[in-house]
Amino acid sequence: MEEKNIKQGKLFVVTGPSGVGKGTILANFFKQDNKNLYYSVSMTTRAPRPNEKDGVNYLFVSKDEFRRAIEKDEFLEWTEYSGNFYGTNNKIVSDKLNNGINVILEIETKGAKKVMEKYKDAITIFISPPSVFELESRLRGRHTEDEKAIQKRLDEVERELSESSNYKYVIVNDELSEALKKFKAVYDFEVK
Ligand code: 5GP
Repeated sequence: MEEKNIKQGKLFVVTGPSGVGKGTILANFFKQDNKNLYYSVSMTTRAPRPNEKDGVNYLFVSKDEFRRAIEKDEFLEWTEYSGNFYGTNNKIVSDKLNNGINVILEIETKGAKKVMEKYKDAITIFISPPSVFELESRLRGRHTEDEKAIQKRLDEVERELSESSNYKYVIVNDELSEALKKFKAVYDFEVK
């Protein structure tokens, strides 16, 4: 039998508090470089925002559907964050990696910790805000959450920031173009 000799893909875990700009950095990064690279689309019970598309930003599901996926052991990790469930599909991630495709997970810190336990060689990147004040004003400025949801997200920030030293790279997202350059430098260095 012919032996398949495909190099394993690399797993990138990108985390950081809500509103820090993980999604914006990654969306811009994917515009520049999407060869051999897969953005893992999570499942969530959160309602879609006006600009979000099912199957592109998330798989938007009901709580029952999410529970069924837990029962079927479909998740690499899942968590409850700010009153909603979010989870990463296990099989899709491992299939991509086994086929030599690099995978990027954009997830919060509790999920990131679980992934780091399972994938010891994951490349972990923490995106940090220039200050908590700036983070709060970005969260409010994007007008995607109501006040209650903003407060819930802000309640998580201190814990999330205190964990930044557990990550291999910390990128401060002050200027988007600079943060993007740094992200690209990390990616290129790690995949070379
Ligand atoms: P948002 O509701 O703002 O899209 O996401 C809230 C938080 O959940 C963000 O920090 C986002 O990165 C994170 N998140 C998105 N998908 C997943 C996932 O599959 N697992 C975990 N643990 N967090 C996720």
